[in-house]
Amino acid sequence: MAQDKHYDVIIIGTGAGGGTLVHTLASTGKSILILERGDYVPREKANWDSRAVNVEAKYQTKEEWRDKDGKPLHPHTNYYVGGNTKFYGAALFRLRKTEPQLKRPFRARLYPFSPIWTLFCATICIASVAYYNRLITVLFLGLVLAGYVVLRLTLRKNA
Ligand SMILES: Cc1cc2nc3c(=O)[nH]c(=O)nc-3n(C[C@H](O)[C@H](O)[C@H](O)COP(=O)(O)OP(=O)(O)OC[C@H]3O[C@@H](n4cnc5c(N)ncnc54)[C@H](O)[C@@H]3O)c2cc1C
Repeated sequence: MAQDKHYDVIIIGTGAGGGTLVHTLASTGKSILILERGDYVPREKANWDSRAVNVEAKYQTKEEWRDKDGKPLHPHTNYYVGGNTKFYGAALFRLRKTEPQLKRPFRARLYPFSPIWTLFCATICIASVAYYNRLITVLFLGLVLAGYVVLRLTLRKNA
């Protein structure tokens, strides 16, 4: 890389943060340098092996970090193009109400029956928990209520 080259913007990292930033800035015509410390994730069978990815931590850094008390910890992070986003950030919900014009690249199979079926099964699970364990139910309802209060308060603040 030429040392005397000038860039308008330098972006470090290619995860959701860096990736979306460069996507937004691409049309501005600015000269952009993206720095990524990792290589591309090798395409191999283990990509799809949850044991290799999550239990054996095949793609995670072997670095040892320290917590605030100096105790060693494993950061569960990785350094690849796409960053942690590539591994853990796949399910990013975009709500139709707030972005009605958003294009939908995927359509759920058997829509709308598949989400209805999922909600139905989830309701049975929750009803079973409510029936068999009152304490967990009360805690669950308390958390839902607290979440609702926070939602209402933040909605009012953002309006
Ligand atoms: C174990 C775990 C589980 C998670 N589970 C979920 C989940 O289920 N759902 C969800 O939505 N989110 C999940 N997340 C969070 C999600 O992955 C992050 O919030 C998101 O990926 C952060 O995006 P980012 O762009 O900030 O960082 P990243 O996607 O991590 O990107 C950072 C990039 O910067 C690069 N980089 C770092 N240092 C340097 C350097 N010095 N020079 C050059 N490049 C550098 C890295 O290699 C990486 O590519 C999880 C995160 C972890 C760690």
